[in-house]
Amino acid sequence: MNKPLLVIFDLDETLIHSDDQHEDFTILSKMHDKGYILAIASRNDYYKVIEILHRFSIHDYFRYIMADFRPKVYQVREIVKLSHEDSIDFKHVIFIDDYLPNIQRINSDEPDVITYHFRTMDMTLTDLSKSIVKFE
Ligand SMILES: [Mg+2]
Repeated sequence: MNKPLLVIFDLDETLIHSDDQHEDFTILSKMHDKGYILAIASRNDYYKVIEILHRFSIHDYFRYIMADFRPKVYQVREIVKLSHEDSIDFKHVIFIDDYLPNIQRINSDEPDVITYHFRTMDMTLTDLSKSIVKFE
């Protein structure tokens, strides 16, 4: 199993929920401090995403912020391309999203990427981080 190096998060209903509740973000700083490259892939307006990340004071954890209306697989490919200087390829990528069709599309088009369908079985971000850390 390849050690994940790049963790790509969906934003809406993965990190931040529609009732303005959000996940425990301390895990983002822990992952960031451990050297993981964190990224956002959101099908939303870029400036809206930037505003949300600043509002929750988590903007600076993310090296790459991809927000537009393309399918997620194109956003993921672009982030991987941008991170080539860190010798990242698809085998080092974790993709986390609450929307199952996004997960299925990544599984089918980029099968080397490790995917987590977030919020299945009430998995929290903290639970998820434990399963990511087990790769170490
Ligand atoms: Mg979502």
